[in-house]
Amino acid sequence: MKKLIYLDYASTTPVDKRVLEKMNNYLTIEGIFGNPSSYTHAYGIEAKNAIEKARINIANIIGGTEEEIIFTSSATESINLAIKGIIYNYFNCQKEYVITSTSEHKAVLETCNFIKKLGVKIIYIQNSNTGIINLNLLEKQITNKTILVSIMHINNEIGTINDINKIGNICKKKNIFFHVDATQSVGKYSLNLKEMNIDLLSFSAHKFYGPKGIGVLYIKKTKDKIILSPLLHGGGQEKGIRSGTLAVHQIIGMSTALSIANDELKKEKKRIKILKKKLWNGIKNISGIYLNGNLKNSSPYIINIGFKNIFNKILMIELKNIAISSSSACNSNIHNTSHVLKSLGLTEKLIHNSIRISLGRFTTKKEISITIKNLYLAIKKIRKNL
Ligand code: PLP
Repeated sequence: MKKLIYLDYASTTPVDKRVLEKMNNYLTIEGIFGNPSSYTHAYGIEAKNAIEKARINIANIIGGTEEEIIFTSSATESINLAIKGIIYNYFNCQKEYVITSTSEHKAVLETCNFIKKLGVKIIYIQNSNTGIINLNLLEKQITNKTILVSIMHINNEIGTINDINKIGNICKKKNIFFHVDATQSVGKYSLNLKEMNIDLLSFSAHKFYGPKGIGVLYIKKTKDKIILSPLLHGGGQEKGIRSGTLAVHQIIGMSTALSIANDELKKEKKRIKILKKKLWNGIKNISGIYLNGNLKNSSPYIINIGFKNIFNKILMIELKNIAISSSSACNSNIHNTSHVLKSLGLTEKLIHNSIRISLGRFTTKKEISITIKNLYLAIKKIRKNL
């Protein structure tokens, strides 16, 4: 495949070579390949020890404890387990409301659609036009019938950052479970979960240079233990909450990737901030450009922009040497328009004029310069042919 400039890190990241090297030790006959539930021999015990070390490492990095970490296959599974797990266990006529936002990832929205069919009432908080959840609006919606609030930390399409600290405090005050989809923030933002009022938090490794197919659900250890009904029944792994043989190599990969991301976090964020600024300063004067979300309260890793009267699919064809997307990877296969941009109040036309550019570990200054130049040329060419 001809190498394109990769600017779609929010959809996935390549596995870091240092991560792959570690993972390779956990697959073959020469390595630690045992089933971690096989306690009768050293192969299993070694695998179990490796997993528990990884669990402690991941917990330490996000400010939790190892008892609070459940391994899953993806952020999608973690989100399903968090939301359905709470509903199956705590839903009754006294507690029937779940609050979420209109700009959540499909993993949250479709899970909410599913539980709606079970009789749960869903309240959707509308974003402000800058893409941030209005905390007063959220607080007003909470009643004594609310079971759960599920709000994302960083939006995957526009990069806006919600104040999960404050939302957690509101939920704690009202004695309501709070779930955070932190898929776009773990590995890029430091979290200290022991200091935060977050009951459940989901993420996956492939957003921070770990492998695809592995995720975490953090479940806070509280005085009144949070009990989730499992979605998968079987061998009772992960304290019976998530059955299935643990993917040792994936877990090791996730733990290694998170350590690297955490060690490089500050320096990397500073570098990416400079690159995003360079990109925005380089294109902000293109006529008809608009920014979706806001620049001030947003992740340096994601920028969502549009060019009036330029259809994004045409623009992406013109930018054939650059891998970008029109919205999230989940939306780009179907003819859906972005629900996130819709929730900002954009017209269908402006939604179809918008693109997402997301930066990451291997993005260079040179790539940003080429992207700026190519954007100018592509837009000039398209406008000439209009
Ligand atoms: N939540 C957010 C904010 C995401 O960006 C994604 C993936 O794009 C997911 C959830 C789903 O993650 P996974 O693909 O690991 O299931």
